Amino acid sequence: MSDNAPEQNPVANPPSQTKPGMSAKKKWVIGGVLAAAGLAGAFYWASRNELPPPSEVTYTQFKSLIENKVITSFNEVTDPTTGQTSYLGENHASKLRVITHDVKNKELVSAIEAAGGSARAARVAPPSQWGGFALMFLPVALLIGAMVYMQRRQEKRQEEMMAGITAGAGTDRGSKHIASKAKLLNPEDNKTKFKDVAGIEQALDEVKEVVDFLKKPEKYAAMGARIPRGVLLSGPPGNGKTLLAKAVAGEAGVPFYTISGSDFTEMFVGVGPARVRSMFEEARKNSPCIIFIDEIDAMGRARGNFNSNSEQENTLIQMLAEMDGFENNPGIVLMAATNRPDILDPAIMRPGRFDRQVHIPLPDVMARFKILKVHARNKPMDMKIDLLHTARATPHFSGADLGNLLNEAALFATRRNARMIQMSDMNKAMDKIMFGTERKNLIMTQQERRETAEHEAGHALCAYLMRNLLQLKVNKLTVMPRSKSLGLVHIVNDKDILSYNREQLKGLIVFSLGGRAAEIICQGQMTTGGSQDIESATQKARDMVTRFGMSDNLPPRNFVPQQTGTGLSPTMSEETARRVDEEIGKILSEADQTAQQLINEHRVELDLLTEAAMMYETLEKEDIECLMVYKDMERLKKIRTERDEELQRMIGREASAVAVTRPQQTMFPNLDHPL
Ligand code: ADP
Ligand code: ZN
Repeated sequence: MSDNAPEQNPVANPPSQTKPGMSAKKKWVIGGVLAAAGLAGAFYWASRNELPPPSEVTYTQFKSLIENKVITSFNEVTDPTTGQTSYLGENHASKLRVITHDVKNKELVSAIEAAGGSARAARVAPPSQWGGFALMFLPVALLIGAMVYMQRRQEKRQEEMMAGITAGAGTDRGSKHIASKAKLLNPEDNKTKFKDVAGIEQALDEVKEVVDFLKKPEKYAAMGARIPRGVLLSGPPGNGKTLLAKAVAGEAGVPFYTISGSDFTEMFVGVGPARVRSMFEEARKNSPCIIFIDEIDAMGRARGNFNSNSEQENTLIQMLAEMDGFENNPGIVLMAATNRPDILDPAIMRPGRFDRQVHIPLPDVMARFKILKVHARNKPMDMKIDLLHTARATPHFSGADLGNLLNEAALFATRRNARMIQMSDMNKAMDKIMFGTERKNLIMTQQERRETAEHEAGHALCAYLMRNLLQLKVNKLTVMPRSKSLGLVHIVNDKDILSYNREQLKGLIVFSLGGRAAEIICQGQMTTGGSQDIESATQKARDMVTRFGMSDNLPPRNFVPQQTGTGLSPTMSEETARRVDEEIGKILSEADQTAQQLINEHRVELDLLTEAAMMYETLEKEDIECLMVYKDMERLKKIRTERDEELQRMIGREASAVAVTRPQQTMFPNLDHPL
């Protein structure tokens, strides 16, 4: 996108502007005028074209039409080819057009004037076939002309640019040298060390040798050992690929160059390879060093693929050539990151190039715990904060999400002028990242709140009743509207679940449909609130049938349409597709029945959960367990009161501590959620 703007290109500007002749601005103006003229012509013709062709009448008919004011104006027209004169009569209001070739005399004019119409005698050619054709194509021709003109202009600019590139790259000291765009981080500014990277010990082991090599390249050279040249880091975004590369540079104390694969993709021919050349040239001067290429798939996409283009291929070839030229051991290590290693050109992974591959997956519970600890290091955390609980409650969080979580928690604590981050700040931050910001000023009617509470209670009830099957705990139920939903139930797995069996998947579908089932049972109807639930339930049921071979009536084969170059291609007959649909439908309606049955059998608990949710807005794990086990609202009320008192005491303690250090400040103005 921004690559398209020639102004952004360092070499695009100067040569073309010093050229004699029309300035670029003037050319643009002319181009614009041409295009506008073309468009105007097109519109004019389109509007003209709306008039119907005139119908032929006799002179007497013509005259009576005028006298009866059916026709309000007329023109005398002469056919340029035959020289014949005719009268064309029109009524613009009724779009009536008549023509007579049988012209007797000029008494028509007075007849029209007598009728109160307007008369003009003009030598206009009637729109003959050819004239019409020409008029129709004129705007198109103008447009094509304008386009050709602009294309030539662009080509010219490119030629000028190429001249600049060859001047720069050829002599290596030309003034029009193409900058590499790589950003340099000097060793004295790079504070990142291995201790800042948590939870990816295996990846760390893989790159430790690189550090050693960068510290003592001579040692490896003397031994004749083939040194690592390229390390390819793969994995989903935000899990520390950049961080790890930076830490390698930090540990080795060498310069760190960063560049993104997309920085090499230019619309101008030859710029990409030139950028690669100048980048390696600069790195050679500063070796030993690390070059980090983020999103290498932007330049390293498999060649010949329908998405690749020749300019990008040339850039890639240039880079591979530079890497092959490392024979004389220049002490440069390339590290590259991608989340799509599958689409990379195999040539990249050849020995001597990016031959070392390190995968960095989403962190598991322990890794999340360690990452949280790293990010908590420089923050004042309350002793009672249970980072392991946070780690358990955040499956699918990336390292970046976890860093963000602690930052948000710190912000919440700052907002309430607290001395340190509390577990409640952590929980608020977690909810904000997972479910969106609270919409405190959203006004819900009592009925809407009740429907939401019933819906969420339905989910919570199903989850609680299947807690052993699904190995989970119901961590929270809230009807506080957020940017992503009106309410939610948060379930936490006891540990990261690596694979589900069929019963568990069915249970998850029941959980998804539990909200809707509760609406049906309590209200006798459902709301639109369940659309996401239905979507996720359908997806799971579809996966069960098409991917996991979990239906009784179909063979264990993959029924997922395959992605081909031109789109999705079906992999089964229509008959089979119908049976797949049937199986998916069966799983879903069975799950719906189960959900409704569970709720009917535990209607008392459902109503208690609903009432409590409406009263307290948010129910914690203990609240839900209390209601489910004792089925006693009074007992819950007592627990809540005790908890509130405990919180008040805690805030009081913290407040007095703050009062000593910051006596002027208002205490906790924003603590609107006593939880
Ligand atoms: P990637 O390059 O894989 O997209 P980054 O390295 O840019 O991800 O990670 C972004 C941020 O997330 C880091 O700056 C760091 O704060 C945090 N982060 C990610 N992974 C980790 C980790 N394993 N340990 C500590 N922090 C991490
Ligand atoms: Zn729901």
